[in-house]
Amino acid sequence: MKKPNFDFARNRKDTSVETSEYIIAENLKNIGQNKKYFIKTYGCQMNEHDTENIKAILEQMSYTEIDKMEDADLILLNTCAIRENVHDKVFGYLGRIKHLKQTKPHVVAGICGCMAQEESVVDKILSKYKWLDIVFGTHNIHDLPNILDKALEKKELEVQVLSIAGNIIEGIPAKRVSKYKAWVNIMYGCDKFCTYCIVPYTRGKQRSRDKESIINEVKNLINQGYLEVTLLGQNVNAYGKDLDVSYGMAELLKEVALTGIKRVRFVTSHPWDFTDEMIEVIKDNKNIMPYIHLPVQSGSNNILKLMGRRYTREKYLELFDKIKKALPYSSITTDIIVGFPNETESDFNETLELVNTCKFDSAFTFVFSPREGTPAAKMVDNISLVEKENRLQELNILINKYSKEANDKYLGKTVPVLIEDYSQKNKNILMGYTDTMKLVNIVGDSKYIGTIQNVKITDIKTWSMDGEIVNEL
Ligand code: SAM
Ligand code: SF4
Repeated sequence: MKKPNFDFARNRKDTSVETSEYIIAENLKNIGQNKKYFIKTYGCQMNEHDTENIKAILEQMSYTEIDKMEDADLILLNTCAIRENVHDKVFGYLGRIKHLKQTKPHVVAGICGCMAQEESVVDKILSKYKWLDIVFGTHNIHDLPNILDKALEKKELEVQVLSIAGNIIEGIPAKRVSKYKAWVNIMYGCDKFCTYCIVPYTRGKQRSRDKESIINEVKNLINQGYLEVTLLGQNVNAYGKDLDVSYGMAELLKEVALTGIKRVRFVTSHPWDFTDEMIEVIKDNKNIMPYIHLPVQSGSNNILKLMGRRYTREKYLELFDKIKKALPYSSITTDIIVGFPNETESDFNETLELVNTCKFDSAFTFVFSPREGTPAAKMVDNISLVEKENRLQELNILINKYSKEANDKYLGKTVPVLIEDYSQKNKNILMGYTDTMKLVNIVGDSKYIGTIQNVKITDIKTWSMDGEIVNEL
């Protein structure tokens, strides 16, 4: 059994990073013959992409995917630890799985992802959820065939959660959700240690992949017909800072753009590492999309300091202005946390003012959730939950107002849209995203799926737009 350890994560500064190649033993490739798997994913794009890896590994083991949990022989929950409410959902879902296992004892069930990296969660599983079969962490995905093999053999709970600072495993296969858009990890982990955030503990030290592996992955995706890549990391602008080279995000963005892929995106950008060179590269390369997710978290310098964000409100606004001046057409979105310990009414008003200044295209907004083991969880919190909820509501009203205003500017304009699929709500309508990441529902023939078309925007909603193809590209 290998359990997670937060003290190790906290004190890991000088630990080295090892890179190795994914392999699966021949004798494990038939384990899933005639068996079905079901996987449920919680959390961010990083988790979604991990699920793509897990699915491909399971299919190498001959498992077949199904979308009904009750019919599965193997059930996995790929979890998120960012906020407490996901924990509640996951533990709630475990109740359903336990019930199923009572009538189908052969079913193998497990938890993986960020929650599995939390000491307190693993302790809870070991005391109250011993009927689970496997628990594995974000650093152990490549080892899933062996973990599963062991669990099936032992028929008792197998916990494999490495708390290493992190490694890099190249060549893990992926069963991608889309045939046209792909996530490409450029780095793993995070070293920023914002005081509220659990990611540096659950995902380990910042490890940048070497540029050749990234460029090769993008070139392979182009050969497979992909039109868009999203370069993925918790703090992509810090790409390369952990490597002994003078090659950073600006250089990488440029090289990825030069592969000729139609669209390049990147998430998430920490304002601290966003350089002028990056702005220039985005401006100069038309296939880098004018869409920037730039989390601000708070508009108050007191709170930003308590959060350990390393920038001030003034610095954020300066960067925001610089991006908007260089890329006036770009859309900028953000993340905001309300109700951080000791956030006063006046701190909160500063956040509202910042939103009034930036008029973000949209934002993810959250009530602060104390994460055990992080410094902010130990701060005395003097704001009631009702007050926090009220602030969130007030903020959301403002955010929605500016989202609608930003969308309104598109009415009657013609914009490029990557048409991805049928709309989930209406199979007679197609859906896709503009270069600026606006969701568009389009009347059109299915032959356009998997192409980029000029679409005239005919109607505006708060969260989406309607449009029609004006001239076939
Ligand atoms: N790396 C990104 C950055 O630096 O902005 C953010 C990654 S985190 C997965 C996504 C968002 O979750 C954060 O931007 C933050 O707004 C929110 N978040 C993280 N920890 C939180 C907490 N303890 N309570 C509430 N929201 C949190
Ligand atoms: Fe978390 Fe992002 Fe801060 Fe890293 S930079 S600690 S992922 S909020």
